[in-house]
Amino acid sequence: MIERTTLVIATRNPGKTAEIRQMLEGYPVTVKNLDDFGPIPEIPEDGETFDENAYKKASFASRVLGFPAMADDSGLCVNTLNGQPGVHSARFAGSKATDADKCAKLLEMLKNAEDRSAAFVCVISIAVPTGAALTYEGRCEGAIAQAPAGENGFGYDPVFYYPPLEKTFAQLTAEEKNRVSHRGRALTEVRDEFDRILKWIDLQIPVAEKFSANYTNQ
Ligand code: IMP
Repeated sequence: MIERTTLVIATRNPGKTAEIRQMLEGYPVTVKNLDDFGPIPEIPEDGETFDENAYKKASFASRVLGFPAMADDSGLCVNTLNGQPGVHSARFAGSKATDADKCAKLLEMLKNAEDRSAAFVCVISIAVPTGAALTYEGRCEGAIAQAPAGENGFGYDPVFYYPPLEKTFAQLTAEEKNRVSHRGRALTEVRDEFDRILKWIDLQIPVAEKFSANYTNQ
């Protein structure tokens, strides 16, 4: 039988934590986030890929706190910009820029572009204290609109047009967006695989204990 395990979500965002707690209801897992622990150092998000950043956050939190940890990294990849802003999505227009500034900068860069295709990407990493990890990815294909539309969501939602629903992400309700978004898809994959993830964690944790026992014996 699988023992009840703690899973730390490497975030301080209560909304994200609540969403994941609800999604994993019924599984033998206690979901915590970084605010349930004392201060830990900031984790730099300086990787070159979403995988790298998600893994850095999950493995660091897991190593420091001694529990399995889960982290995500996401952003918008525009084909004609060779995948930019990508991992730089949050700071694309400078560290003080608003979401509206970021959208405006993107529209300006694409003003003569014929190919406006783009995808939101989200990578989720689940790591244990040894450094071993599992990775899940969700993608949502769409296009950059000619002008912002809609009031919901955040970030690039007003300029991300989703053809199957003929709306921008900012024109969708939160439920509609979660059903099709990059994050929603990655989280669904995690939920669908969660039985196997728990077995994997269960197999890995004794390895971590053996590792630290060997280490202290030397
Ligand atoms: P994070 O990895 O979730 O912090 O996202 C990094 C950045 O990517 C955000 O600051 C947004 O600019 C952008 N982004 C990620 N997901 C979304 C989304 O669902 N809608 C709009 N923008 C997003």
